[in-house]
Amino acid sequence: MLIKNGTVVTAQGQRRADVLVRDGRIVEVAPGLHAHTDSRSLEGGAGEIIDASGLLVLPGGVDPHTHMDILVGGLRATDDFYTGTIAAACGGTTTIIDHMGFGPPEAAGSLIERVETYHGLADGRAVIDYGFHGVIDHVTEDTLAELSALPGLGVTSLKFYMTYDGRLSDEDILRLLVRTRELGILPCVHCENHAILSGLQERFVAEGKRTAHYHPLSRPDYCEAEAVGRVLALAHAAGDAPLYIVHTSTAASLKVAAAAGAAGPLASSPSWFLETCPQYLTLDEALYDAADDEGLKYLMSPPLRRAQDRDALWQALADGRVSTVGTDHCPWNFADEKQRGRTDFTKCPNGAPGVELRLALLHSEGVVRRALPLERMVEVCSTLPARIFGLYPRKGTIAPGSDADLVLFDPERTLTVTHSLLHENVDYTPYEGMELVGWPVATISRGEIIMRDGEFYGAPGRGRYLHRTL
Ligand SMILES: [Zn+2]
Repeated sequence: MLIKNGTVVTAQGQRRADVLVRDGRIVEVAPGLHAHTDSRSLEGGAGEIIDASGLLVLPGGVDPHTHMDILVGGLRATDDFYTGTIAAACGGTTTIIDHMGFGPPEAAGSLIERVETYHGLADGRAVIDYGFHGVIDHVTEDTLAELSALPGLGVTSLKFYMTYDGRLSDEDILRLLVRTRELGILPCVHCENHAILSGLQERFVAEGKRTAHYHPLSRPDYCEAEAVGRVLALAHAAGDAPLYIVHTSTAASLKVAAAAGAAGPLASSPSWFLETCPQYLTLDEALYDAADDEGLKYLMSPPLRRAQDRDALWQALADGRVSTVGTDHCPWNFADEKQRGRTDFTKCPNGAPGVELRLALLHSEGVVRRALPLERMVEVCSTLPARIFGLYPRKGTIAPGSDADLVLFDPERTLTVTHSLLHENVDYTPYEGMELVGWPVATISRGEIIMRDGEFYGAPGRGRYLHRTL
């Protein structure tokens, strides 16, 4: 396959160049490749020449935060690894790293049981390449012993929570971080102070304040920021254990993280990373007051914040304090599962869809409206997720030897987001009505065109498990 006349964008820069692909990998990136390569690369007519004039050629998106087919409180997210990865592919994402749900009580927190269960969910279903983050909700001699087996299974990161029933205590977090540092495993953490949010929830429910309006009020910015500061202190105590903080949503957390960075050895070599999500960059808490209980569509944790938090996150994304954008894709139907929150917001399953719109939102709201450099968009959506999670340079860039995971992106195309355009298996999109500039028009995964003009072409199970390495 030869992709001609496009503007190739990587984290390092952009230039007019052609991209030659053979056997699923990128062979060469240079201007004018057609002159000497057509005859040998496309012999027998088996190859394809794609004219990318006027288009950007981006590395396929790497979404480091999805929840396909996750089972929470007896409910399964509406996208599984088949439908969810089709949606990802149609939005220009060619790799996901999925965050697992907690295991059944009888598994006693086994890390290996989780990996096996997730292979059962994803293998033969996913249409793009996928990896798994592990999950730990019990810190015991057994689970700490199992940690060392994870890299052998291709799992080099794992998540823990500071809230929910599977949350870890400070003592457990410290024990865990000492061990992950020794093993070179990267822990990912959901930061919220459980006492604050559960105490506020109880109070609101008791006072009859049960609409979605009270969801953000029950999880204020200091509830997240306190946990960010605490976990960074614990990581410092564990010998500056590397750490990845998922879905950072507030200016307060950025402030706390900056203070931690300046306080000790973390300053010279920050060993932790912050992730944010498109919803925190583009939506705000006014949506919880939408008519007809539509606020439930945005019921996610952490919640949507204020406009000033959004601005602070864009600034941090641009200047490097935030490293990655993941979607936290975790869809529930508004007409069905979300209605559990109708009379009490604390009963609503948390999460929202978003895997399909990440690149388009970052381009339109970031590159077009906030002058985020295109190279930085590629870096936070693709290159850094790949580097941080052990997939680079196979994923995350456009260079000889890398997988031919590419997106042809039309930077001029304008479009109004509406649910029927999308492939996510859920009955709404949080971005309904948003006017976007720029849209992915084709997605190539390991040299195969799997999306063109919004149509998906790949077969179930064509995605490969990514055995990540330390
Ligand atoms: Zn998540």
